[in-house]
Amino acid sequence: MKYDAEILIAGAGPAGCATAIRLVDAGCDVLVIERDTLTPGPDLTSGEVLSPMAQRELRDVGLRIAGDWVFDQVDKVRNVYPDLSWTLHSVPSGLEYRHIDRGGLNAALRQRLLQAGGRIECEQTVTEVDMRDDGVVLRTRHGREFRANMLIDAAGRHGPALTALKLKQPEPEFRQIGIAIFYESFEGTPLDTWDRHLYGDHGAMISGSRIRNGLYRYILEADLDDKQQRGMRPVEFYEYIAETYDPWIRERCMREPRVGDVWTMAPLAHRAADVTRDRLLLVGDAAGYLSPFTGQGVEIALRGARLAAQAVAAAARLDDYSAGRFAPYVEGRNAEVATLVSHLRRMLRFVRDRDALLRASTDDALRAQHLLPLPVIDRGTLRGSTTAQA
Ligand SMILES: Cc1cc2nc3c(=O)[nH]c(=O)nc-3n(C[C@H](O)[C@H](O)[C@H](O)COP(=O)(O)OP(=O)(O)OC[C@H]3O[C@@H](n4cnc5c(N)ncnc54)[C@H](O)[C@@H]3O)c2cc1C
Repeated sequence: MKYDAEILIAGAGPAGCATAIRLVDAGCDVLVIERDTLTPGPDLTSGEVLSPMAQRELRDVGLRIAGDWVFDQVDKVRNVYPDLSWTLHSVPSGLEYRHIDRGGLNAALRQRLLQAGGRIECEQTVTEVDMRDDGVVLRTRHGREFRANMLIDAAGRHGPALTALKLKQPEPEFRQIGIAIFYESFEGTPLDTWDRHLYGDHGAMISGSRIRNGLYRYILEADLDDKQQRGMRPVEFYEYIAETYDPWIRERCMREPRVGDVWTMAPLAHRAADVTRDRLLLVGDAAGYLSPFTGQGVEIALRGARLAAQAVAAAARLDDYSAGRFAPYVEGRNAEVATLVSHLRRMLRFVRDRDALLRASTDDALRAQHLLPLPVIDRGTLRGSTTAQA
């Protein structure tokens, strides 16, 4: 078979670009196939936030977190408890979260890949994956065909190999729904703060922050089955949770001017049955989307990219693309992601326990153990403050 590259990567999102940049740096011949354009326009619909670790991984692949796609930082967390009392916490210096424009991040990563010497074929949607004994053939909606020794599926939660090989599996404990509403203003939201309101019923939480001047996102994360049983549409369910538990949010949710579309995703998390096969490796959301609590996946995608590139570069040096060669990726991923996931499971159980949350409002040790171990810088209550600043 005649190859177009040593390694094909489907998808030029964070996982695909970071894997490709690292592989090019290791001397591999990589071709990335992306359905989108090279420089996608602004995409503020998701209200994406980069964790400190995600920012570090991006810097490690040579990306500067600067430019018109970088917005407000988040250096404080406000926990609002079921009785509407709250504690405000500061995030240690250097560990700030960062709001970004998602289209801008993808464009910057794609430019960085080109600068590193990588190749991208844009506006090509992979529709067919043909795994053969001597290589992999990808076919696109636009009639193109690409061949290589192996495929890295980095095309997200509907990745072509993930779908074609039916590798996607449910993750029952993480059957959460995310429903985000965007607002022009949200009176009383503390600046530079992740404002999370924990209700202790089915893990329901509405949390938000200012993305940039004139744009706020408040997102409900809750049990998907609870929503289904109530037979409500996403917005109705969001308003029902606000109405039931939180007059402060409800008042603003009904009053503040909304912008853009309501965004919904469910279930937030799934697993992949296998993340490697002969001549195949899955990375990023394609390998399993595992942060049901915050919806954050960029960090996992970038950490996976680092591990994937190490394993694939070693396999390419030996010209051996059998699944066994990718074992270091599976082991590394288990070690890094398993710790994160077990922490998330504990956290999710905790936020489903109303009494425990009420205790955590005053018990600093309990809160530090189950939520974030951050110093308290202020306390207060939202009870009776429905029209006042918090
Ligand atoms: C609305 C929303 C809000 C989120 N908020 C956050 C957040 O605040 N913080 C955070 O860390 N994470 C957040 N996430 C999760 C985060 O976006 C993902 O975990 C992360 O983007 C995964 O990166 P990836 O590269 O694996 O996949 P993706 O970012 O999905 O990238 C996949 C790429 O593959 C391309 N592609 C897809 N199918 C094909 C195909 N068939 N052929 C060719 N190309 C294809 C796509 O165009 C895309 O460029 C959010 C997700 C959503 C949907």
